[in-house]
Amino acid sequence: MIRTNIDIQHLNSFGLPCLAAGFCQVGSLQALTSICEDAGFKHSQRLILGGGSNVVLAGDFPGLVVQPDWHGIQIIDQDSQSVTVSAGASEVWHKLVIWSVEQGYYGLENLAAIPGWCGAAPMQNIGAYGAEFSDVCTSVSYIDLDTLSQHSLTSDQCQFDYRTSIFKKPTAQNWLVTGITLRLQRQGNLNLDYPGVAEMLQRQNIQQPAPADVAAVITAIRQQKLPDPEVLGNAGSFFKNPIVSTNTVDAIRALHPDMPHWATGNKIKLSAAWLIEQCGWKGHRKGPVGVHRDHALVLVHYGNGSGRQLLELADCIKQDVFEQFGIDLQPEPKIIQN
Ligand SMILES: Cc1cc2nc3c(=O)[nH]c(=O)nc-3n(C[C@H](O)[C@H](O)[C@H](O)COP(=O)(O)OP(=O)(O)OC[C@H]3O[C@@H](n4cnc5c(N)ncnc54)[C@H](O)[C@@H]3O)c2cc1C
Repeated sequence: MIRTNIDIQHLNSFGLPCLAAGFCQVGSLQALTSICEDAGFKHSQRLILGGGSNVVLAGDFPGLVVQPDWHGIQIIDQDSQSVTVSAGASEVWHKLVIWSVEQGYYGLENLAAIPGWCGAAPMQNIGAYGAEFSDVCTSVSYIDLDTLSQHSLTSDQCQFDYRTSIFKKPTAQNWLVTGITLRLQRQGNLNLDYPGVAEMLQRQNIQQPAPADVAAVITAIRQQKLPDPEVLGNAGSFFKNPIVSTNTVDAIRALHPDMPHWATGNKIKLSAAWLIEQCGWKGHRKGPVGVHRDHALVLVHYGNGSGRQLLELADCIKQDVFEQFGIDLQPEPKIIQN
């Protein structure tokens, strides 16, 4: 069941070269148990890989890459107001969104066209267009690969926050998410506040949009704005938007009064893209890697480069932003290096 020396370049959206010492797809506790006891890989490092759209593979992987193989989307409970839906970790996220809006359910429309699989959605609490996974999640099931025991966490226990959750903690490194459960509404209010959404609906003469209309518009906007990883390797936003104190913002705004910023709780969120652009990195190319010409937040791989070259570029950007603004940018994708 474990294949050795497998090229996984086509399994990551950056298209970075990587040879995995071991690779397997597993869809049951029984299969996982035999894999975890395999003499060749029992004590080796493990990497759980979904759609590969949020990882930076910085070289060959000397351990075992485990790709979950849990499928199925089904309604497990419902009442007059809501439906509870479960999805296997290996279902493509966008497929779940499309399925839900085709049923007329509210809740996932703003999260349309985010690449990747359902099992990774809780990791960084995926979010876009004013919505987050945590808005609809009721529970997440996982298997701890160290103990081979099955668990389920309620949404509260998942500790969701901006682009993070309990699943990102080092203690959860060997937790393999097998499925997610979401509560969707039969009726609801659509969030059309994000720039461009209401305008595009209007241009299409849609007066009373349904969730499917919003998902279609957001998909179209995203396709216009973001590079397609099939054409140009990328992982979407490379850095998180920094969340800082009001004192920090005041200090920067004294020199840069036009700096965009948003209140979030009692802190302030800054635009990582704006900070990077101010440092002159937008559109900058360094050999086989670079910063997208339209999106300062999207690092790209033009081909024939390596994860190390990408990380060197990210480090230069980080350093410049720190020197100019005193802000320490944090990467959004998981960096896999040995
Ligand atoms: C063009 C583009 C646009 C994007 N836009 C957005 C956006 O708008 N919002 C947003 O939040 N993200 C965005 N992303 C990032 C990415 O789509 C999400 O983070 C997505 O959830 C990653 O899913 P994946 O299956 O590809 O995960 P992978 O890249 O395979 O893995 C990501 C992390 O999750 C872990 N993981 C994956 N599956 C499991 C599992 N079953 N159990 C345990 N751990 C697991 C991996 O070990 C890794 O640490 C974008 C990416 C691209 C390429």
